[in-house]
Amino acid sequence: MSNLFVNVLLPLPFDKPFTYEVNAEIAADIAVGNLLKVPFRKKELWGLVVEIDVKLYEFDSKQVKEVLAKNQQVKFDEKLIEFIERIASYNLAYKGLVLKAFIGILNSDKIKKPNFKAKIQEIDVQKFALKKLSEKQQKIADEILQEVEKNQHAVNLLDGVTGSGKTEIYFAVIAAILKSHSNFSSCHSDTPNCHSEHKQRILFDKIRDLTPEILRYAQNDNEMTQDDKEGVQDDREVVANQILILLPEIALTSQLLKRFEEQFGFKPELWHSKISKKEKREIFYGVISGSIKVLIGARSALLLPFKNLKLIVLDEEHDSSFKQEEIFNFHARDMAILKAKIENFSVILSSATPAIESYVNAQNEKYRHFVLDSNFNEQKSDIRIIDLCREKLPKNNFIAAELRKMVIENFEKNQQTLLFLNRRGYAPVTLCKNCGQKVNCPNCSSYMVSHKKSNKMSCHYCGENQKFSSDCKFCSSEDSLIDIGVGVEKIKEEVESFLPQARIALVTSDSVTNFDEAEELINKISNHEIDIIIGTQLIAKGYDFAGLTLVGVVDADSGFYASDLKSMERSYQLLKQVIGRAGRRKEQGRVFIQTYNPQNLIFEKIIKQDKAGFYNFEISNRKNLNMPPFSKMASFVVSAFEEKNALNFAKKLIAVFPFDENIELLGPAQMPILKLKNRYNYRVFVKTSKKINLQKLIIDVIKNLEIPTNVRVKIDIDPQ
Ligand SMILES: [Zn+2]
Ligand SMILES: [Zn+2]
Repeated sequence: MSNLFVNVLLPLPFDKPFTYEVNAEIAADIAVGNLLKVPFRKKELWGLVVEIDVKLYEFDSKQVKEVLAKNQQVKFDEKLIEFIERIASYNLAYKGLVLKAFIGILNSDKIKKPNFKAKIQEIDVQKFALKKLSEKQQKIADEILQEVEKNQHAVNLLDGVTGSGKTEIYFAVIAAILKSHSNFSSCHSDTPNCHSEHKQRILFDKIRDLTPEILRYAQNDNEMTQDDKEGVQDDREVVANQILILLPEIALTSQLLKRFEEQFGFKPELWHSKISKKEKREIFYGVISGSIKVLIGARSALLLPFKNLKLIVLDEEHDSSFKQEEIFNFHARDMAILKAKIENFSVILSSATPAIESYVNAQNEKYRHFVLDSNFNEQKSDIRIIDLCREKLPKNNFIAAELRKMVIENFEKNQQTLLFLNRRGYAPVTLCKNCGQKVNCPNCSSYMVSHKKSNKMSCHYCGENQKFSSDCKFCSSEDSLIDIGVGVEKIKEEVESFLPQARIALVTSDSVTNFDEAEELINKISNHEIDIIIGTQLIAKGYDFAGLTLVGVVDADSGFYASDLKSMERSYQLLKQVIGRAGRRKEQGRVFIQTYNPQNLIFEKIIKQDKAGFYNFEISNRKNLNMPPFSKMASFVVSAFEEKNALNFAKKLIAVFPFDENIELLGPAQMPILKLKNRYNYRVFVKTSKKINLQKLIIDVIKNLEIPTNVRVKIDIDPQ
């Protein structure tokens, strides 16, 4: 028998697969999409078969190594492989690294013979107790469902404030999908009774019958009979519909989880960076076997090998944490929509303040736009601006007299207050009153932020920590350091000075580090064991606290000075979210915004509650400046330990792009933090008209460019 060779994509920074030889036992039923364990350098790695029956011309077959094992439970289908390839090509990431995001958990397993146990969700549709929707909400849910059932790609934007019923609408859609049980994709238009009760029953029973099978493989995956293997084949056809809900802050999902459990009678699985490897492995197998139907996760959950996804919901879709760099850079919203296109299913985007891109897509009817009005705040919040230029704050005070008075009054009325400041720690700058030097980070061009509670100075960019000292390291003066500016800890001190009896909670990523802490804190606030919440943007997202009636924005200006494309949009979204926490019940909410720039257009739009006005203004701005989404954009961040090396290469990069009226280069400009972890960072933007293939342009330019070894270049498509 002649030898069989296959090409295997490995979870490493390569685009090209590697060739391996397959022994007769594995060769019998090998296919594209199988996962194989292969030797690579000194390691053994799981990789993905992307080509079988490879002909060897160039190699000596003796140099080709042999496959070690095949994973009997997991097979990636064509569409999943296409998804991996398209994520790689859109984001200019190595295919191997994208694969790593999908199967990393298999390779991180130290266990020689992994226990292939899949998590199983028991769903009893009889236990569903969904809230009754209003007529309008029901109509929207029905419209979304119609598209879901057609198995066509559709994107739905649910646009309405918290409390307007966005969650209830997508819950209704999820319930309907779960109740249908059947696999829509196995239906054909010529079988009209495909969804009949009877057939659904059979399918459901079949799924149930198969569940123990999945478990049985777990115990003896080496001793599979031919019948067992056919069982696996069958399983593929009857697998139930799956639903993925993506959230920006998984640590703060307790309210959504609670609502989900109350209405569905079961717990959805949770996927985020803090769950254990064992749990991750069980979810991986649960997702690919179809035994997990509903998963709530952070952005990385999108890179799980779902068997039969029918719906992705992105809650708080505008949130910038949907785009972040992990193994490679990608935007979870855009990639979710790409996946839905490949596999023909629906996406629901939900937000009170949609991203400009989503809003424009809705205006252009690429997305279906459902605008919801609020159920409560019929009495809209009373919003006032405090002009800090006129109101002279006493030294080391950061809360104006008017706001202070309101905080006290609100406390006396036994109502809750939120003071919002998007700055962790005690003070952002510490300065020596003798020599004038500021305490900076040894690795970055940033100041060390003092944290009184933990008695530390820390860099919020690289994580450098030092013990707090009040002596100056520059001039050796003793006790000469003074703090400048304000962080949440200092606000807490100020509130304690005029309301010592109030129960105060700080809500920042320093005080809330995991899911349990978040849940405990949210419960405390809900049960009114807290009077005053002082928090960063962590507290701004989608919470509903009935007793919260006063919001004070301590410094509304901090976002405006950022020079990036989205700073206005982000400031608006954040302010709207913070304001949205006030007065969500019968009591009218009051909001005070402290600013040195009261003439900023954002405040006018916010006071008038003129959301469309803000979006139209921002969209026409982008249009006039030919900025995304009216053009395409990518950024290059060039970094080096020597500043001149980074700057020189950034200049060279600009020079190698072709002259073309459709291509515009911006920069090089220093990054907001020029020195980060001892590397100097310069950025170059390339902006093109929409007809240019931006990815191809970049690849063509880069391939002719030699990148010096002392320079690092990071490419980001659609920088945020
Ligand atoms: Zn000094
Ligand atoms: Zn630093």
